[in-house]
Amino acid sequence: MTGPFTWSVVDLRLRHVFTIARGSRSVVPTVIVRFTRDGVAGIGEASPLARYGESVETVSAFLAGVNDAVGTRGTDPSEIPGLARALAPGNAAAKAGVDIAVHDWIGKRRNLPVWKMFGLTPGPLPRSSMTIGIDEPGVVGEKVREAASFAALKLKLGVPGEREFLESVRGMTAQPIRVDANEGWATKEEALDRLQWLEGQGVELVEQPLPAGNAGAVAWLRARTRIPLYADEDFRGGADLAPLADAYDGVNVKLMKCGGLAEALTIAREARSKGLKLMLGCMIETSAGISAAAQLAPQADVVDLDGCLLVGNDPFSGAMGPDGTIRLRDLPGIGITEVRR
Ligand code: MG
Repeated sequence: MTGPFTWSVVDLRLRHVFTIARGSRSVVPTVIVRFTRDGVAGIGEASPLARYGESVETVSAFLAGVNDAVGTRGTDPSEIPGLARALAPGNAAAKAGVDIAVHDWIGKRRNLPVWKMFGLTPGPLPRSSMTIGIDEPGVVGEKVREAASFAALKLKLGVPGEREFLESVRGMTAQPIRVDANEGWATKEEALDRLQWLEGQGVELVEQPLPAGNAGAVAWLRARTRIPLYADEDFRGGADLAPLADAYDGVNVKLMKCGGLAEALTIAREARSKGLKLMLGCMIETSAGISAAAQLAPQADVVDLDGCLLVGNDPFSGAMGPDGTIRLRDLPGIGITEVRR
């Protein structure tokens, strides 16, 4: 059966090899999703992560299932993201691809940017950090020089050589540093040792110090450090907010983890009501996924939306500026334009 969604896999070439606690990558496949009706195409993106059980194959299978469910019937587009969410558990990136494409389509039909449809006001917005992955000293120096105009750097630790890596960056720049341990510290004692070291290094926050599922140990750490702790791998969706509220200072909300814009907006409001700060984060994505997430920046305390800046062949341009400044303009939908190459 045919349906309104079409999609294509794009191999994103990274500008530098990307190393985190789970391994290294130089090419990252993503799925560009299009929702077409009445001659208008809404664009979305599903960037699957193996950590959450997704791949381009699972995304394709899910999108085929959404096409089967929607078919050629005249389902109201605003109902399609909910219909997709109810199809199967998991598949958050695939659901985000559907949700973003439909929001882009609705915005284009109404000639309104998503941030305006959501009733958000773009006052002064937080600027995104730029990620610096561990590498040879010469390459690290080059990355730090390239990121000189950013408001903050994000360093991926939890890997062998992390101390030398961070201290070499600290020696090159006075920019604030955010640390992402990516579940790379094995025990609470090891994590506390690292946090005590980081307190002397001008570190603004630490993301996911321990493997997910150890909220009690994170609460123990939080009582022993001044550095704010943010949940990333521990935080998948709204149901996780209450159990994490005592362990963490904030949560990293990503469209590809929670399933899209509508859910992320709900999470943003609930997080605040539970006293949790909101970081808006991303995977390696094109400007489609990033510009979609940026629509929610007025709700964020911390922005980490550099995914498209790590990519050498981004097919779009959108809300993310080259120095991490978010530009929420009056372009309809998610505010992207295709880049001709
Ligand atoms: Mg993270």
